[in-house]
Amino acid sequence: MKITVAIDGHSSCGKSTMAKELARQLSYVYVDTGAMYRAVTLYALRHGMMDDTTKQIDQDALKQQIGNIRITQVVNAEGKVETFLNGECVEGEIRQMRVSSCVSPIAALGFVRQHLVSCQQAMGKDGGVVMDGRDIGTVVFPDAQLKVFVTASDEVRAQRRLAELRSNGDRDITFDEVLQNVRERDYIDSHREVSPLRKADDARLLDNSDLTIAQQNEILLSWAREKIQ
Ligand code: C5P
Repeated sequence: MKITVAIDGHSSCGKSTMAKELARQLSYVYVDTGAMYRAVTLYALRHGMMDDTTKQIDQDALKQQIGNIRITQVVNAEGKVETFLNGECVEGEIRQMRVSSCVSPIAALGFVRQHLVSCQQAMGKDGGVVMDGRDIGTVVFPDAQLKVFVTASDEVRAQRRLAELRSNGDRDITFDEVLQNVRERDYIDSHREVSPLRKADDARLLDNSDLTIAQQNEILLSWAREKIQ
């Protein structure tokens, strides 16, 4: 039996690392829903619908365009997931701080969520999918057979995100800037009116502050195997 696995949690807690690895081990499809909200944010920034300083959004213009924003994800030859915005690979750009600092206000808009949630439901309609995000177990797939809510301390998460940004060539960013961004996104994500980030009642909690990647992957795989059998 192919199950649906919903992985939610706080920003930069390693959800996608573990979700990707689980999908690989089970030969399931992996969907990174955060990348979809990031791609919409990049679209809004590029088309002058959002000001990256004031964070003001031209909601009417974005609402008009939302149906024209096509986001796809493919696994490249090295096994890495790449996100495409209307046919262009935007994987590098959506991970930069400019997008990270604008994405949560975009993700708080009801019409953006409505559009992306229906895309995500279509992507996972046949099961055999591991999807990570903030509302997968609560809204996108409330009937998922396995739901996991992942977290780690703020400092551990900021340190991990900083290492990732540095390895992508961002040398100027400081630990405090990253920590502030992580906390800010958590706050907006948990306090927004539409589908706030929260642990589904039937989700299993995984705090990976003191776990290695190998240990967290092992726990997740054992939980998935329990459900598949
Ligand atoms: O997972 P990632 O950190 O890339 O997500 C970026 C942002 O997208 C989150 O901070 C959140 O605001 C938004 N998001 C969301 N719902 C999801 C996935 C991401 O609101 N399912």
